Amino acid sequence: MTSFNPREQIQAMTGYHSAQVDVPIRLNTNESPFAPPDGWLDAVSDIVRTVQWNRYPDRAATELRATIAKRHGVSPENIFVANGSNEVIQTILLAYGGAGRRVATFEPTYQMYSQIARVTGAEVVEGERNADLTLDPQEIKRVLTSYSPAVTFLCNPNNPTGLIEPRENLEAMLAHTSGVVVVDEAYAEFSEWSAVDMVSDELPLAVTRTFSKTLSLAALRVGYVVAPRQMVADLEIAVLPYHLDAFKQAATMAALGFVSEMEQRVEAIKSERARIFAAISAMDCEVWSSGSNFILFRPRSSEATEVWKRMVASGVLVRDCSSWPRLAGCLRVTVGTVEENSAFLGALSHALLGQ
Ligand code: PMP
Repeated sequence: MTSFNPREQIQAMTGYHSAQVDVPIRLNTNESPFAPPDGWLDAVSDIVRTVQWNRYPDRAATELRATIAKRHGVSPENIFVANGSNEVIQTILLAYGGAGRRVATFEPTYQMYSQIARVTGAEVVEGERNADLTLDPQEIKRVLTSYSPAVTFLCNPNNPTGLIEPRENLEAMLAHTSGVVVVDEAYAEFSEWSAVDMVSDELPLAVTRTFSKTLSLAALRVGYVVAPRQMVADLEIAVLPYHLDAFKQAATMAALGFVSEMEQRVEAIKSERARIFAAISAMDCEVWSSGSNFILFRPRSSEATEVWKRMVASGVLVRDCSSWPRLAGCLRVTVGTVEENSAFLGALSHALLGQ
């Protein structure tokens, strides 16, 4: 009999799941509701014909890194690109985390930090947010000075709360760390401030970005980090050779030609976010303000999973966060198109009435 015997860390874990239910309106994974522009699709069909498919890709992703670097006013040596920001996070943890080291998160936050940290053998230390899910600089100081983590994560705006972190929280991290601080800016375009401008070769700060949200390319799987040169060099050592395929490099370059169209879409999402926020606030729910493309809310007098089920029955899928630690009773909705959002608000108001 074959006996499978994965590493202890794997045995203790369940993996990362987002329930997918086949309903017409899916507002559960914080994607863009819009398809990429037609111009990008045309460019991609040309790229398919011009890629040298029999050759390995440019391992250093030279052109792509140069283009992204220009966008942020940094050098290409400050940019590392990977298959989604999840892979960026994984590579950071491979290079800086691992056995015998600690990784700090401030919960609740994006689950993949602790998941990947554990899979790669590090010990996770969890800082706590307040009951209203905000984070105090004193808590940051406590965790960083007590545990000296090699990597500290700050998700800004934070997923799943949507809250924008005050700058002093990042300053507190940089003041009290002896390791690296990673600011995950997957949703930065919907927010009010970014730490990208703070990145320098002298500061242990890395800022991750993704093409999955604003750039409508979740299916392409591209993300990157703006980081000190030394850190990028370390990531290049940790990552697999040729991890970024030639098609993806070219298709991503093409996507960067459509940034201004994407910025208009961000404005549409923000205005819909304001509409949904006001509408949920007027219902029997507690709602968190959001600097992101999703909103966290808690029905006051109905059980969250019941509300979730009733909404699924009316064809609308949101994220049920109610079983996640520190998020009892909470649901999270991604901002969709005007029509999707209206359907969501209708389904929520019915579900809260028990229908
Ligand atoms: N960071 C955060 C905070 C996210 O919410 C997500 C996507 N759910 C990611 C990173 C991963 O994004 P990507 O598609 O770039 O891997």
